[in-house]
Amino acid sequence: MFKKILIANRGEIALRVLRACREMDIKTVVVYSEADREAKYVKLADEAVCIGPAASAGSYLKMASIISAAEVTDSQAIHPGYGFLSENADFSERVEQSGFVFIGPTSDSIRLMGDKVSAKQAMIKAGVPCVPGSDGALPDDPKEIVKIAKKVGYPVIIKASGGGGGRGMRVVHTEATLLNAVSMTKEEAGRAFGNPEVYMEKFLENPRHIEIQILCDKFGNSVYLGERDCSMQRRHQKILEEAPATGISRKLIDKIGSRCADACRKIGYHGAGTFEFLYEEGEFYFIEMNTRVQVEHPVTEMISGIDIIQEQIKIAYGQKLSFKQKEVELIGHSIECRINAEDPYKFTPSPGKIINWHVAGGPGVRIDSHVYSGYTVPPYYDSMIGKLITYGKTREQAIARMRVALSEMIVEGILTNIPLHKDLMLDPNFIAGGTSIHYLEKRLQALKDAK
Ligand code: ADP
Repeated sequence: MFKKILIANRGEIALRVLRACREMDIKTVVVYSEADREAKYVKLADEAVCIGPAASAGSYLKMASIISAAEVTDSQAIHPGYGFLSENADFSERVEQSGFVFIGPTSDSIRLMGDKVSAKQAMIKAGVPCVPGSDGALPDDPKEIVKIAKKVGYPVIIKASGGGGGRGMRVVHTEATLLNAVSMTKEEAGRAFGNPEVYMEKFLENPRHIEIQILCDKFGNSVYLGERDCSMQRRHQKILEEAPATGISRKLIDKIGSRCADACRKIGYHGAGTFEFLYEEGEFYFIEMNTRVQVEHPVTEMISGIDIIQEQIKIAYGQKLSFKQKEVELIGHSIECRINAEDPYKFTPSPGKIINWHVAGGPGVRIDSHVYSGYTVPPYYDSMIGKLITYGKTREQAIARMRVALSEMIVEGILTNIPLHKDLMLDPNFIAGGTSIHYLEKRLQALKDAK
């Protein structure tokens, strides 16, 4: 096994990877920016290297600094976490060229799946159902674009090929606003992702976001670890996730899951990965694949008993998967609430010093967080400061435990979205299960209107 791994990330995922390594007796190196000097995992790691200023362009996104840190610490492999450079094919290539192992798929796989147009084409070829839409990128000719939209049928959604993080998407309801929306999305995409290419999909009115977790080794063995329901979203960003998904039959999940595992074998994928689908009226429509670990991986870990980060490390080292599909047993139910440092209803970020941080506990409660009393949430990065995860034999028990856990959480000094999660745990529609991706936004709008 590797003797030393460098963790090229920050926050809760840096701590999560560090814990996985420590359990496996692997030494850890963390890199940190000047703003993260005081982070808990920096003190827990065997070695820590400051790689630059607070702004991520000069630190967490600076490939040369991260690779130098791996060189001076004599690390063998680099775990990229999520976000930052985790889905950057050039980074994974440079890591490998510098003689380190990139804990993730090959740069070719990242490149293929990182471009949503090529990813969709590869999936169609591999027999995975996709959202109906344009055949690849949209052409420049406005007449052609109008024609394509007519064929797809309104409403449509214009999406950036290089998009991510819920950005670079625009819904269009009528022809009158189509061309303007296309040029605006192109311009934004060029600026944000360095690639102005956009494509068109049918905008599904009432879907759920269901995703399949897969693991594949370097010997062509692949398994799926069931699904997650990530429909509770605001501005296309997930805030609460659960596994399994309410009301979808195991037969249907097994069918789509084995398609995903097959597709991985067909494209020569290895590592952990997630196939994201929209699910409407019994049908799955592929939207994209994430070639890294996801924020919401713990809910799958809770019901499968499989440590996804450790599996990533073992696969990268060249071990064969130690279990077969039929040995994957999913038991019980798990929910994750993302705890963000933000106003619970206005959603403005709320960085600053945490005066008091007291976390929940008890059976079936897991907290993945790097913060502590006296920790200052820096204003430079994502607002997520931790994840509260519960497990129960049934969904009802997982919800009940989440309700209690949320009531035990004390976070003083900054605002968090805990009140919003508390509300959701009492929401009859959430309790019934199966709400669509538009549910949270509609509910927030209704609250606003009532005021
Ligand atoms: P990103 O890479 O930015 O996360 P995705 O393609 O995964 O983008 O889409 C993110 C979210 O946007 C989805 O979970 C869903 O809420 C919404 N979305 C994307 N495509 C469609 C579509 N065709 N119809 C309706 N909603 C969509």
